[in-house]
Amino acid sequence: MTKASPFFTSLKDLFAFLELPEPAVQVANSRFSFLVSRHFASKIEKKNPNDPLLREILPTEAENLIVEGFSDDPVGDAESELEPGILQKYQGRMLIEPTFSCSLHCRFCFRRAEPRKSLGDFLSRFRARLNSSPDIQEVIFSGGDPLMLPRANFDALVATILESAQVKTIRIHTRTPVTFPQVLDAADKNSLFSILKNAAQKKKVVLVAHVDHPHELDKKSAEIFRELSQAGITLLNQSALLQGVNDSAEILTELSFKLFDQGVLPYYLHQLDHATGVAHFEVSDARALQLLQEIRNALPGYLVPRLVREIAGEKSKTPI
Ligand SMILES: *Cc1c(COP(=O)(O)O)cnc(C)c1O
Ligand code: SF4
Repeated sequence: MTKASPFFTSLKDLFAFLELPEPAVQVANSRFSFLVSRHFASKIEKKNPNDPLLREILPTEAENLIVEGFSDDPVGDAESELEPGILQKYQGRMLIEPTFSCSLHCRFCFRRAEPRKSLGDFLSRFRARLNSSPDIQEVIFSGGDPLMLPRANFDALVATILESAQVKTIRIHTRTPVTFPQVLDAADKNSLFSILKNAAQKKKVVLVAHVDHPHELDKKSAEIFRELSQAGITLLNQSALLQGVNDSAEILTELSFKLFDQGVLPYYLHQLDHATGVAHFEVSDARALQLLQEIRNALPGYLVPRLVREIAGEKSKTPI
């Protein structure tokens, strides 16, 4: 018997697993394939074609619509890219994209349309960049999902930062606590957990999870967050505001409370970046502000995320 892959790469297989009739659309957009981890898929309600978690990962015809104002580089990354995979937009913070891999393909992702440039020898380029950028105090791992890197590659990048006196903070943006938690399993010596734990003894380590809906949180994520917290790692969350997924005050309120239950503080609630093929997820600013007011009334202040948008050329995220 062959071991089952931890991913669904075929919609047909996913729909069989969810006990749903096969969808009409096979691959809506060949530029961004279908992918979802079995772990995430197991949190989708069976036989429910309208499940919010399914909506996050299901390719649809709407992705092929050309909508004015939606483009392949919505946040001006090309302009801020120092070299492939290394960006600086904001003061003191360098953002690196050491991999294009993810544990699932979120259909609303703003990086979905990005050309997959060769990263070459990323480690040595990163080392050189860091050494010639004395103003950098924080290195932000983004992607892709940086925790999908092979262990040795992730270890080498972190080790480079630990050697650098100027960097105070390592920040990891990742969706794995809710999508592919095995990479953070504290009981598995080959997971990435020990690398983060060790780093947290020498620098500040911040993990920014990406959870959009309370159903994504489960016993496994609670366990992962507990171990990370005990290792001294600061836990934050960012969400994207998504039509048909979490554009409701009840859902956003429940999400904040459930994150806090698991030791995670809400950080950002993002208005969607206008990437080609994501217009059907858009929530208007007027509706977003109304939702923000409603959740402010329902939550303690420290559980209200900052509603922001990324605007190309600005020196920080822009509050709405
Ligand atoms: C969002 C972002 C950051 C981090 O911004 P914070 O407001 O500190 O969370 C850094 N660099 C780039 C390129 C970004 O897009
Ligand atoms: S995990 Fe993040 S980078 Fe990967 S597809 Fe989802 S939103 Fe995009």
